[in-house]
Amino acid sequence: MLQPISEFLIIRATMHRSLGLLFPLLLTVSLFAQASDTAKEVQAASASSYTLYQDLHQHPELSSHETKTAATLASRLRSLGYDVTENVGGTGIVAVMKNGAGPTVMLRTELDALPVLEKTGLPYASKVTAKDDTGKEVPVMHACGHDVHMASLIGTAAVMAESKNIWHGTVVIIGQPAEETITGAKRMIDDGLFTRFPKPDVAVALHVGNGLPAGKVGVTPGYMSSNADSIKITIFGKGGHGSAPEKSIDPIVIGAKIVLALQTIPSREVKPGEPVVVTVGYFQAGLKNNIIPDEAKLGLTVRTYDQNVRKHVLASIDRIVKGEAEAAGVQKLPLIVHDEATDAVYNDPALAKRMSAVLVEALGKDNVEQEPPAMTSEDFSYFVEQGVPGFYFSLGGANPEKYAQAKASGEILPSNHSPLFAPDAKPAIETGITAEVAVLRDLLNMPVAELRQLTASAAK
Ligand SMILES: [Zn+2]
Ligand SMILES: [Zn+2]
Repeated sequence: MLQPISEFLIIRATMHRSLGLLFPLLLTVSLFAQASDTAKEVQAASASSYTLYQDLHQHPELSSHETKTAATLASRLRSLGYDVTENVGGTGIVAVMKNGAGPTVMLRTELDALPVLEKTGLPYASKVTAKDDTGKEVPVMHACGHDVHMASLIGTAAVMAESKNIWHGTVVIIGQPAEETITGAKRMIDDGLFTRFPKPDVAVALHVGNGLPAGKVGVTPGYMSSNADSIKITIFGKGGHGSAPEKSIDPIVIGAKIVLALQTIPSREVKPGEPVVVTVGYFQAGLKNNIIPDEAKLGLTVRTYDQNVRKHVLASIDRIVKGEAEAAGVQKLPLIVHDEATDAVYNDPALAKRMSAVLVEALGKDNVEQEPPAMTSEDFSYFVEQGVPGFYFSLGGANPEKYAQAKASGEILPSNHSPLFAPDAKPAIETGITAEVAVLRDLLNMPVAELRQLTASAAK
């Protein structure tokens, strides 16, 4: 059921009491037409968005290189009547539609794909390769579903542009580059996203995944994703012959001890029940079996929710890495570089509660689920850090039949970033558009003061 139907019911009930029969009947007909118009608009937009999705899926681009993707979106938005600015924070785009007084609401999509070799076997699978930032030729795939987000956003932009008579305020639509490297949001902000363009009262985004079947959405009040910190460590040993360990300091043994010791941070240093993940994603050292190398390199990702826990975990990593190296008698302490970091995405509970009700009305009670937080990361948090309250929700992507089979058998469907990630795009996009349109219209039609009061505690 779409939102205007409820408006129609309320107005119709009032009219029945105060006026005769003829006027309410006419009003009923006209508002009914509006509601079914919206459903038709969403369906029409979905069909064209699905074609766009297949095109985007076949032509993915790596983080910070999304030039063609950005140009495609910019031209679509321009033809819908949006005022579009390109090259904001690199390849980012900003599209503004002003429609009288009212709140400013931002809707965001990411533009980038990943260096993954697609193995879905889909007729529109990507065959693209591109040079990464180190100059290496790599396969490219929309393995995180950002193509679904872009297609939904363009559909939503079309419905909003065609229904200006039933909302007011300002819609700011952004295509953000480089989400996967957690750099794009910050670059857009540094390039004046909130000073050159209207500053939003609320920012909205969604993410598709196989955690829910297509047709459903998920809402997580409070923390939705985690703080993420990337750390690169270089251990300096002393190289030598593999047959003479007494004449060398073996960085592989030091690294191995560090890998295991790091796991004592979540298990021994943090209160049980407090979510912490310390993952060593790579351990690189050596070239030949009879040579003790000079160096070993470790790459870590660290996930937390609480800021104090985060500080403690990061300090413990420093202590353990240096301590293990010192214990082995190194002449030079390890180099520890913190190179990427992002804060947890936080959904203000009051805003999330209201948006849940809006989504229930738009999609039906059975299609809106409350979801637990995940240890994923997202640079959407940068917008919230700038004082813009955010509403970030999940979009079901799994084929409903496959989802039910997997649930029954205990099988796990391919996750985002998998070469096999293939969301059931058609129903997911239609649901995405329906959900985004409902959320945007509700936020835009709220008096500015009421919206600011609702989100007062959300801005962190
Ligand atoms: Zn991703
Ligand atoms: Zn993603």
